[in-house]
Amino acid sequence: MVDANEARRLVILGTGGTIAGRATAASDNVGYVAGQVAVADLVAAVPALAGVSCEVEQVAQVDSKDMGLPVWQALVRRLAHHLEDPAVAAVVITHGTDTLEETAFLLQQLLQPRKPVVLTCAMRPASALTPDGPQNLSDAVAVAREPGAGGVMVVCAGQVHTATDVSKVHTYRTDAFDSGDAGPVACVEEGRVRRFRPWPADVRATGGDHDAGALARFLAADALPRVELLISHADAGGAMVQALLAQGETDPVQAVRGIVVAGTGNGTVHQALAEALDVAQARGVPVLLTSRCARGHVVPHPGLAFVAADDLSPVKARLGLALALLAD
Ligand code: ASP
Repeated sequence: MVDANEARRLVILGTGGTIAGRATAASDNVGYVAGQVAVADLVAAVPALAGVSCEVEQVAQVDSKDMGLPVWQALVRRLAHHLEDPAVAAVVITHGTDTLEETAFLLQQLLQPRKPVVLTCAMRPASALTPDGPQNLSDAVAVAREPGAGGVMVVCAGQVHTATDVSKVHTYRTDAFDSGDAGPVACVEEGRVRRFRPWPADVRATGGDHDAGALARFLAADALPRVELLISHADAGGAMVQALLAQGETDPVQAVRGIVVAGTGNGTVHQALAEALDVAQARGVPVLLTSRCARGHVVPHPGLAFVAADDLSPVKARLGLALALLAD
């Protein structure tokens, strides 16, 4: 039997990143410029994709460290367009590694796709002696065509991560991503997908039912509500919070609308910073608590200084709060 995912068209959207990066020397894996090679050329360079029916589109060509609302809006618009097309089975997105987890989280939050949306990347530029992009792209296509797969996923170094769990954890290694305690949802071995737990689209509260109002607000926004991310550390103070509040008094357009704090350990916050955050909350600026620890989440207990952001990492909690504030 031919599976629907195999029979219908695959769309590959390019946004830039190291996977599309070029350096002057093949031996140079760090001194490159990201976002140089067209996504059509990246696809053409993977022999395994030669027989795959796909449509390729360059949505952006950026270093993902510079990701922001305009590129996100363009990507969401094109992705939503393709997902609505019954002839499209799945979408693969090439993206830089630096903010990949934020884009993946954004797409999952806004679109809750039933179809597979697979983001992939590379840690070495396309010009490298042994680039990792071609294998990652080939693996991403394998996941996109996997019968039953659905939801937003990230493929890198043979592992498949969900948008909710994935974080970049290494500055240089090709296996730069990790799903923390949850672990990867699947892996890809010689083009075959081995699944460990349900696909994100099969998990309750996801899978096709996106909030059309939230999507429309996001696409129409000139800017996301300003949510700042602060980190608690030894010798921390409240000066940053005070400066944010003071700026809001003189310039209401720039006023901070929310603050996410990456606390120490199980969401503890330096007393001096906590006092300033209490003032912010009293002035109507919501404060969300996360942990700066790479693993685990803030385990709720009555003594927590602020509301904990479920299992989300600090950067995802920041984005989640900005999206929630868009509704206000
Ligand atoms: N700065 C690059 C980017 O995020 C890094 C990478 O893709 O690995 O676009």
